[in-house]
Amino acid sequence: MAKILLRKENLFYNLDIISKKAGSIEKVAVVLKDNAYGHGLIEIGKLASEYGIKKAVVRTIDDALKIEKFFDYIVILAEKSFHTYSHTFHIALNTCEDIERLPINSNVHIKIDTGMHRSGIKPSELEKAILGLSKRNIHITGVFTHHKGADELSTNFFWQKAVFSSIKENVKKICEQLSLPIPAFHSCNSAALFRTSDFDEDFARVGIATYGYIDNADVFKFPKLKPVMSLWANRISTRTLKKGQSVGYGGKFSATEDMIVSNYDVGYGDGFLRLNERKTYTTPKGYKVLGRVSMDNLSLNTDDEKVCIFDDVNALAKVHDTITYEITTTLNPNIEKEIV
Ligand SMILES: *Cc1c(COP(=O)(O)O)cnc(C)c1O
Repeated sequence: MAKILLRKENLFYNLDIISKKAGSIEKVAVVLKDNAYGHGLIEIGKLASEYGIKKAVVRTIDDALKIEKFFDYIVILAEKSFHTYSHTFHIALNTCEDIERLPINSNVHIKIDTGMHRSGIKPSELEKAILGLSKRNIHITGVFTHHKGADELSTNFFWQKAVFSSIKENVKKICEQLSLPIPAFHSCNSAALFRTSDFDEDFARVGIATYGYIDNADVFKFPKLKPVMSLWANRISTRTLKKGQSVGYGGKFSATEDMIVSNYDVGYGDGFLRLNERKTYTTPKGYKVLGRVSMDNLSLNTDDEKVCIFDDVNALAKVHDTITYEITTTLNPNIEKEIV
């Protein structure tokens, strides 16, 4: 089967840039949701911890349990069953409805909706949430928000930042009145961190930049990062395609002269999104994906034993009219990972 190589050197390079921007390693929470954006939850968790990162962000408690030994502090973004409790876990409160469902003595980060209108409590519900949680002996260890377009040129980013600033003041006031400790504040994803010149929050939640990408990096003159993942495929078979013969479903690629064609063991079933006659892609070494991608394989104009399918997903994201995030997270979690 195909294989994903993870370049430790590139991951550490990105973490150097990120922790410098954030001010210290302690101010970086590495986002490992969705199998670390397809890179492998355990693999990236272990490497980030080896680098010295202490905080992580995941989607569920099950994911948090898998990486608990690597981190001191884990923020869980979207758990609904609240079944296990650990002092390293900090569960996001996405709606006031969940106040009664959170385990007593658990650590909670209150998510505030500052304008994305996806999840999070309304700024006007802040006092009610803090009172409700503290009444149940739940520790409010964080208050956070999420930007709807930190990687886009618009005023949204500054607007939400201003809303969150006033939330922080309000939280401090309420906590002082109730003699509660001041929680940690965090609002930045990768793009927001790099757009902030005076980062002063407790930590940033850094996903895509960890893996070597940020959308619109040129527009904002963000630092160059290095993609961590590359996808490799093995040759299954080789033949000579005679002039006029075609390859694959629908016979959509026809040889204009005799040529060598090989079949490689990666396809859309592995999460390498399907390419067809309208979507063309060339590998880093210059081999062309010929015709349509099959479920478990694709054809290239080479007979190399192993081929690097990609070592940077920006080109594929363009081909598929999507973002780098979708290309890497879609990869099948069963693809073997090797750290190099
Ligand atoms: C996914 C996610 C992040 C990370 O965003 P990147 O753009 O990948 O850095 C941060 N915060 C929340 C709430 C998220 O869901």
